[in-house]
Amino acid sequence: MIKIALLGSTGSIGRQVLSVVERYPEKFKIISMAAGSNAALFSQQVNKHKPKIACLTNPENLSSITEIPLGTEFYYGENALLHAVTGECDIVFDAVMGYAGLKAVKQAIELKKNVALANKETLVAGGGLIMPMAKKAGVSIIPVDSEHSAIWQALNFDTNREYKKLLITASGGALRNIPVENLSSVTASDALMHPNWNMGKKITVDCATMVNKGFEVIEAMWLFNAKRSDIEVVIHPESIVHSLVEFSDGAIMAQMGIPSMELPIQLALTYPERLYIENHELNLFGRTLNFKEVDKERYPAFFTVDKAIELGKNFPCAVSAADERVVDLFLNGKIKYTEIPLYLEKVLEKTEKLSLSFENLEYTDKMARVIVDEIYLSRSKA
Ligand code: NDP
Ligand code: MG
Repeated sequence: MIKIALLGSTGSIGRQVLSVVERYPEKFKIISMAAGSNAALFSQQVNKHKPKIACLTNPENLSSITEIPLGTEFYYGENALLHAVTGECDIVFDAVMGYAGLKAVKQAIELKKNVALANKETLVAGGGLIMPMAKKAGVSIIPVDSEHSAIWQALNFDTNREYKKLLITASGGALRNIPVENLSSVTASDALMHPNWNMGKKITVDCATMVNKGFEVIEAMWLFNAKRSDIEVVIHPESIVHSLVEFSDGAIMAQMGIPSMELPIQLALTYPERLYIENHELNLFGRTLNFKEVDKERYPAFFTVDKAIELGKNFPCAVSAADERVVDLFLNGKIKYTEIPLYLEKVLEKTEKLSLSFENLEYTDKMARVIVDEIYLSRSKA
């Protein structure tokens, strides 16, 4: 029985983790769970899974928590998330959105717990601190993101295996067929209509801008000890090839399958064993698969993230924090879609280069959001 601490249970990934647990109740048990604001759904989940510990960080809708099962300790408030990272679990599944996931991973490593990592912002902001810490503690950081899971599968679950190149696929997002000159008038609901995947709002907008792919490059650099030049991003609109690894003899290994997160989620918990998943067969007949380069004009924000990679240190953290805030402004109709890369560029310009430490990341994360708000205020006055 694998005892799971699930962070972000009410989100898109979190709900699919619970589906996997419900499919194999004899293999998995949720020992603790945490969520942000969705108290009503959280309450249902807690009553179904009866974890030992339940944590809600935003107590606004606390009245929706109707009942807490006998034997469940309940925590709420800003730091409640960390209570869910408990010594009693076998693995911490981090499916929180945003920078909030980083502290939980740090604590998991301190407790010597393996981490199934969906929360890519942890590695984007803090990979330079988290990976050496995990290595020293003998803790595995297990990829959940579909592209990284695909690479990991192609490497036979051996992140130390030699390879020549990593090829990360990208769907191109919801706006891939909109003429570039019309992008300035797209709305949040346009950007949220992803053609292949059903995900949380922030990552869906990040797919449209391809900021998500920039973040996945950083994630791959940390997970597979790659340089930026070892990684190529390929637009593959069908989302059937989830990523590929090229070896020195020219062989390319790809992992293919229907676009579904349940496979990488389940595999992160059971590898090297593969368990049955219903309705996951891929029918290859009649399919055409396309691959093309990333278009600079359509996806300027992807190249801004590349700039942050080049700048290194705390710059990826700054661009990640800025993106959380900027996407929020876009989703709330406050800024145009085409302003997103302009904000990210400005934040990079205004960020002070700092050495890597958890304190400096905390400061960078806060400052990047402040800078975004300042730019927003000055642009709305102009
Ligand atoms: P969602 O927005 O759907 O869910 C985010 C989850 O995190 C929710 O449960 C939310 O709670 C919770 N949460 C947010 N902030 C906090 C906090 N401070 N403390 C505790 N819980 C918090 O996001 P996704 O599930 O789409 O994505 C989660 C992570 O996985 C992201 O990092 C994303 O990039 C990554 N990922 C997602 C994929 C997908 O298919 N969705 C694919 C690959 C990676 P509540 O809703 O209750 O407020
Ligand atoms: Mg992905």
